[in-house]
Amino acid sequence: MTGRGQGSAGDLLELVRTGRATTRGALQQVTGLSRATVGQRLDRLFRAGWLREGAGGPVDSPLGGRPSITLEFDDAHAVVLAADLDTRHARACVLSLSGEILAEHGGTLVIEDGPDAVLGELGRWFAELLEKAGHQASEVCGIGLAVPGPVDTDTGRVVQPPMMPGWDGYDIRGRLARAFTEHTGAPRVPVLVDNDANLMAYGEQRTGHPDCQAFVLVKVSTGIGAGVVVGGSIFRGIDGGAGDIGHIRIPAGAQALCRCGSYGCLAAVASGGAVARRLAETGVPAASGSDVRDLLASGHPGAAAFAREAGRQVGDVLATVVTLLNPGVLMIAGDLAGTSFLTGVRELLYQRALPRSTAHLHVLTSRLGERAGLVGAGALVVEYLYAPERVEERLLALGM
Ligand SMILES: [Zn+2]
Repeated sequence: MTGRGQGSAGDLLELVRTGRATTRGALQQVTGLSRATVGQRLDRLFRAGWLREGAGGPVDSPLGGRPSITLEFDDAHAVVLAADLDTRHARACVLSLSGEILAEHGGTLVIEDGPDAVLGELGRWFAELLEKAGHQASEVCGIGLAVPGPVDTDTGRVVQPPMMPGWDGYDIRGRLARAFTEHTGAPRVPVLVDNDANLMAYGEQRTGHPDCQAFVLVKVSTGIGAGVVVGGSIFRGIDGGAGDIGHIRIPAGAQALCRCGSYGCLAAVASGGAVARRLAETGVPAASGSDVRDLLASGHPGAAAFAREAGRQVGDVLATVVTLLNPGVLMIAGDLAGTSFLTGVRELLYQRALPRSTAHLHVLTSRLGERAGLVGAGALVVEYLYAPERVEERLLALGM
């Protein structure tokens, strides 16, 4: 909103989309605009296909008089593509504008093969997924990508990513936009790139905890990272580094070499990769976080013991996080997210954090699971493209 009395077409769409005003009368009341001006601006949105009349029929008008027709964001006028890259595996999907997954694919994609190969392959996946979902490439309005590294969201490039060799400073947006065009023949679309933990947090907060004003998600897989959603927006810090808790030094890690090149990082002792190494040392075949996840799922007692200990180490760091941010939800996601790890987290968290910081805290496991990053990436694209300031420019581009 640009303020009362300044409702652009984008502001009106935002009010309808968020459910704050869903009739012409309510829009007049909230914006202070005349009936005629609201009508003109809504017309542009109707002609673009972005608004439709609600199926529920007329409701009583806040201004009195005739019952008014409700308005809805038309989520069928476009689709979004999203992908979530892990170090050796990726997921991709087609989403509706309201975040429903219409077609999905998961498979091996090795990040060490480099950005050109990985993003080229994603372009091929997207083309196949669109066909599977029964949508044309021309319906795609944007692409969201989650990556396991710190991202400068102004440029969409990763910055010194420990787990993404060869990707530092690479033009991810440009390459993925080109891969999409090459495989579908459709025009280029905007590409947004963000850190995976950020997008998982965003996806989980929006779909499961929309009223939670301070939400923290911790992903514990090959590495450890946290996503923070404050006031409904991802909090990235000034360089995109917020939440990178995997590289906080802990005393127990003094002898452990981290992928970032330092010794003593939390991720070097308490990540899925670190637990896999400890299991391997005891003769259990485990090479990665996903191996640990499978062992935990099968009830392996050694894996459970190591996961609980890792949970305690992460919980110790999270006591500081919780004291600093006083979140309503602390969600644990990734390969280690399960009972043993959560027990360890709770033990240390409640021991170390002030009671006031944890009085209303819910410590939960992920609800969306492996889809959280996809849902968050899709939502990020929709919020970007339908933000009031961008709606005007897009309507003009459509000739509306
Ligand atoms: Zn490190």
